[in-house]
This record gives sequence, structure tokens and C-alpha cells, in this order.
Amino acid sequence: MSSTIDDAITAEEAIFLSRTARSRALHEQATEVMPGGVTSSWSSSRPVPVWIDRGVGAHVWDADGNRYIDYHAGYGVNVVGHANPHVVEAVQRRVTEGTHFAQPVEDAIVVAAALAERFGLPQWRFCNSGTEATMDAIHLMRAITGRDLVVKIEGSYHGHHDLVNVSIWRSLDDLGPVDNPSREPGAGVATAFAELVRIVPFNDLDAATRLFAEEGDDIAGLIIEPMMMNAGIIPPEPGYLEGLRDLTRRNGSLLVFDEVKTGLVVAWGGATELFGVTPDLVCLAKALGGGVPCGAIGGSDEVMSAISDGRYDQVGTFNGNPLTMAAARAVLTEVLLPETYGAAEEIGRAMLAGCAEALADQGLESYGVVHGFKGSVVVHDQRPANYREFLEVNTAICHLNYLMQHNRGVFTAPWGKSESWTLSVAHTMEDGDRVIENTAELARTIAATDSTESEIFAVGGITA
Ligand code: PMP
Repeated sequence: MSSTIDDAITAEEAIFLSRTARSRALHEQATEVMPGGVTSSWSSSRPVPVWIDRGVGAHVWDADGNRYIDYHAGYGVNVVGHANPHVVEAVQRRVTEGTHFAQPVEDAIVVAAALAERFGLPQWRFCNSGTEATMDAIHLMRAITGRDLVVKIEGSYHGHHDLVNVSIWRSLDDLGPVDNPSREPGAGVATAFAELVRIVPFNDLDAATRLFAEEGDDIAGLIIEPMMMNAGIIPPEPGYLEGLRDLTRRNGSLLVFDEVKTGLVVAWGGATELFGVTPDLVCLAKALGGGVPCGAIGGSDEVMSAISDGRYDQVGTFNGNPLTMAAARAVLTEVLLPETYGAAEEIGRAMLAGCAEALADQGLESYGVVHGFKGSVVVHDQRPANYREFLEVNTAICHLNYLMQHNRGVFTAPWGKSESWTLSVAHTMEDGDRVIENTAELARTIAATDSTESEIFAVGGITA
């Protein structure tokens, strides 16, 4: 009897459902009071969103009592591990002393100073999410330059505010011609906003240079994830970030690094330190709060003077919230120390090598990237340089990997399309071995189907 990757998905989804009866019941109950039965649309996943009960260190337990090694890390947040004792202690202390005043608390100075040291940018302000951080950064670009146009990278995600909700999550057919990429706005975003955005592909300095030559007088700035993290991890090619630094500076435009995912995660000083290019502004969120909602923007004295002199009012009731500041202080000064990055990267490198070997044993090509706590291994016959090329990855295989890892005690981000793993300070080599074993089984499963090479390395597959 012939079998396909879809058959393997059907079989694994049946196992998944048999292990998650309580999640299914909660999901059904939730649909009566929450659209889609989830608290954020990105928690929706096939065959059912998994409801979590608790987490400690590198592990989470779902509502059915299944224990997993957690590599999802709440979309890359929990680099300190779940219920990290330092963060718990700091937050518990703060809770008993009051959690909100809308007036600054001393912890904020420690956090800002620690970030200044890591990122080489002297001035910091706080907000409450990655979305708020990139929104503030774009407002600052405009307030400083008096220009309206914002350049963003094709396919990059920077949060859910209007200006960055253009050119995300598109299929290959929707992207438009390479030299004139589609700028269709996301649902709920006015076309007028999309008209103020320009799109260039990642790793293409020539395209950015052409755009700046044509419209530079109107360009307020360029926002970029210095390493694309929503596309299986795509690093910048040598010279690319330096080229953008030079281009924006010569044009009097601002360069913004969205380090919401990379900051404090890929290296001690984020991608800014890793690649040795300092932008005008850095956006942070996710890992900074150690599991508490957070956000921050850091900038040069010159750029941030636009806030101190009132050209831009950077505001928010919860900005610098004492609970977040207490957690962030513990994260920065007690947990994510310079030596923790090398230890995590060693585990990641062993995982990457083990997974690549297990796939190769079954004749499957793959590529991978590891930096600090982050890593990815993707079954594909080419290493993509940009989002378009990443869309050629077979998403059915990514989903099959998610299901197989999950059914064998490893929690990764639903759908498996994004980066494959975020480690924490609590993960061990043994935890990494489980991923490798599961990947070996994935490889054997794919090899046992009748799929041809062109089907395995097929464009698309299923979509989220
Ligand atoms: N920027 C990047 C690079 C992100 O990955 C995300 C979230 N995945 C955001 C911004 C938005 O962050 P938040 O969900 O905290 O608003």
C-alpha cells in the first residue's frame, strides 16, 4: 500500500488527539467565550491547541498531565526557564510591595544601564510588548526626520500595528514580482497605511540601494530583524547589515533593529553584538521580562533626545511597570550572564549536528543555524537567503515534525514553520538528545513514504 506525508500527518494527529482529551474539552469550552477558543489567534493550531498547566525549568506539563521538554518557550520568551528561582524571588518580593504606580522605580535604572552595556546604546525607555516597541521606533523615525516612508523587509513580522502589517505571511503566489513586491495590507489595515511602506527583500543590498536612490528624500528609516527569525532563521550575509548602516546614515534615515526575538537570546548583546553593527534604535521584548509582559527601545543619545526634548512623547500607563522591571533586573543581572550563552550554544550545535546526521542517514537534505539559545534545522535542499526562498520549504514536513516531536515528549512552536527551538538555561545535552532521536524517527517516517524527492522538497504543503 502506498503512503504519503499526509498519511503520516493523519496518523500522528490521531495520536496527538488521543493524548490531549483535556485540551480538547477546554478548547471546546473556550470557543463559547473566546473566538477560536484561544487567547491569541497564533495559539490556534492543528489538530487542537494544547492547554498548559504549568512549567518548571526546561519542562512544561499540559492540561492532560503530559510532560514535555519545552523548546517553544512561549515563542522565544522563556530563555531563563520556567519559574526561574531568581525571577520568582524578584517578582514575589515586588508583588508584596505594590506592582503599579505609573511613577518610575529604581529597578528601571539598573535595567536600562544593563541594556546600555549590552547593546552599546546609552538611552532606554520601556513599553509592554514587541508591537509597542516597533511602533515607538517608527514614530521616532518620523518625529526625527519629518519624513513619512518606512522601509521594511519582505515577509518580516514586527508586531500587529498598522505600518508593519504589510507584506507578512504571504504565499509565493501572493508576493508579486521580485522587483515590485506586493504591499497588500494585512486584514484591518487601511490601504493608505500600506502606501507609506516600501518593501525590499532580506539580504539584498542592491534593492535597498536602488530604493533609497529613488525615494530617499522621503524615507524616515528602515526596520529590520538583523537575522530573520520567522523563516527558519536566516542570517544576514556578510556586509549586508554594514551596507544598510551606511546607506541609512548617508541618507539621513534611521536604522532600526527589531531584536524582539534575537535580543538577549542569540548573544549577550543580541544580534547587535553578534554582527558588530550598531543601529540607531533597538527594539526588545520577549526574553527581557523572563515571562512577564515587557518591551523596550534603546537608542543613541541623539535619537533619544527626541524623547527628552518632547519631539516625541513616548508614553504608556504600564511603561516601566515595577513587576516587569523587577523581573528584567533578575534576568539581566542574575540569570543571562555572559557565560550562559556559550553553554546553550554548545547544546544547540550538538542538536543541529545530530539532527542533520539523522536526516542525512535517510537521504534527506537539511540546513540549520544556531546562535546562542536559538536554533533551527529545516528539511530542505537549499539554504534560503530571504523570505521568498524560505516559502519553498515544505510546510507539511514542518507540521509532521511538530506532531512527532510533540507525541514524543518535545514541545515546539505549533506548525513548526518558524525557528525550531529556543533553549533555556535549564536545558541539558540529554534534552537535546531527545530532539535528535525524534528527528531520526521523523526521517525514517518520511523515508518510509512513497514521496519522491520533488514531493519532499515541494513548495508549500499545508498552511496555517
Ligand atoms: N517583532 C518580532 C521580530 C516578533 O517576532 C514579534 C512577535 N513574534 C514582535 C515584534 C511582536 O511582539 P509582541 O507579540 O510582543 O507584540
